[in-house]
Amino acid sequence: MLSQKDPEVYAILQKEDKRQRDTLTLIPSENYSSLEVRATLSSVFTNKYSEGYPKKRYYQGNANADDIELLAIARAKKLFNVVHVNVQPYSGSPANTAVYFALLKPLEDKIMGLALSSGGHLTHGSPVSFSGKYFKTISFPVTKDGVLDYDAIEKLAITEKPKIIVCGFTAYPRIIDFERFGKIADKVDAYLLADISHIAGLIAGGAHPSPAKHAHIIMTTTHKSLRGPRGAMLMITQKGIEKDPELPAKIDKAVFPGLQGGPHDNQTAAIAVALHEATTIEFGKYAKQIVANAKALSQELLNYGFKLTTNGTENHLIVIDTMSKNVNGALAAYALELAGIITNKNTIPYDTLPPFYPSGVRIGTPGATTRGMREKDMVMLAKWINEVIVECKGNGFDKLTTKEERGPFFKQFKKDISENKTIKKIALEVKKYLKDFPMP
Ligand SMILES: *Cc1c(COP(=O)(O)O)cnc(C)c1O
Repeated sequence: MLSQKDPEVYAILQKEDKRQRDTLTLIPSENYSSLEVRATLSSVFTNKYSEGYPKKRYYQGNANADDIELLAIARAKKLFNVVHVNVQPYSGSPANTAVYFALLKPLEDKIMGLALSSGGHLTHGSPVSFSGKYFKTISFPVTKDGVLDYDAIEKLAITEKPKIIVCGFTAYPRIIDFERFGKIADKVDAYLLADISHIAGLIAGGAHPSPAKHAHIIMTTTHKSLRGPRGAMLMITQKGIEKDPELPAKIDKAVFPGLQGGPHDNQTAAIAVALHEATTIEFGKYAKQIVANAKALSQELLNYGFKLTTNGTENHLIVIDTMSKNVNGALAAYALELAGIITNKNTIPYDTLPPFYPSGVRIGTPGATTRGMREKDMVMLAKWINEVIVECKGNGFDKLTTKEERGPFFKQFKKDISENKTIKKIALEVKKYLKDFPMP
């Protein structure tokens, strides 16, 4: 028993369990996986080494590891309509890394993606990530509201000639036009990598168009809206094979032995479970409800006078421009946590503030939807979010311009806001409300 053998770790696990139950995650990349996914993740497969691929292993004793990996692959192929799948990437960032290593010449070839500040991922060419250090990069143009400008993207692709175009984002609230991206990629003979990490659950559940006919490679993490264990998959489409028959071999080699050693078979097994869950009728309902909830929540927030990037949402996430209420995103996110609403601070397109003290907060509905919330519950959530953010106002933080000023001020803000009576009251209301929406 862990509680007796290691009371220190046990105590932290208990506290985290309680934190997750008593608060609500609105972080759009988080979710609550099923008990079956969690149990499988802690299965005996954590004991096994299986470097290589099914039937081509470097260690003995891999008959069952082969079976579980082949099952996960077969399920992913069917669910996402692709012809080749690699389920071994440890997570999303290594998976994108493997794609670049497989297809690009360092310091020479170019990645075209969305800038971090506009909703792209670190691994899509950000200068602070390896992707921006080891490869040339260029960012998509977006309108001042943060919407992708497809005509401008096409023009830029023609002049810049990227070798890979990455579409699929971490803070982009709109449907992605994969068909248009596919045409742009074809026109400049680039590979199109659809990074569907955030929206994989929506695609699997029929609540967002699939990139399967338009992209050459699809990458997804498995722990976001797909609701599996932490992990990632790299998938090659029919179109990908037609462009480059060597693509499956190149990608597989880049993952192992290029970048990784032994796969996490326990993770693979849990991915297989999640992929099975994603084929159920309930999952389709969940995916559609995620979008319905996000739309309801965004409308409520607009009614409270918040500005939202792209003026709303068509998927699972919303980026609130909290500076539209003169509240810095860092302050808003901190105060929301005190109220039991877990979000993350986020930059907005063309943000003039730094990433540590950005203009906005990113929220999303996968976690709330998993817990059974519907449109009417979004009315309550919006009310609480508004009340909390109103409490953060009027302290002059938005007038500060330097790190040296912001740091001490933020410290003082944390102290003051933790004694705020309204926020304490909301925290109790949230906790009580969540009793009707249990975490698995
Ligand atoms: C989350 C995410 C990743 C990276 O996933 P990690 O598992 O955190 O490494 C990559 N791309 C996108 C679009 C993501 O949202």
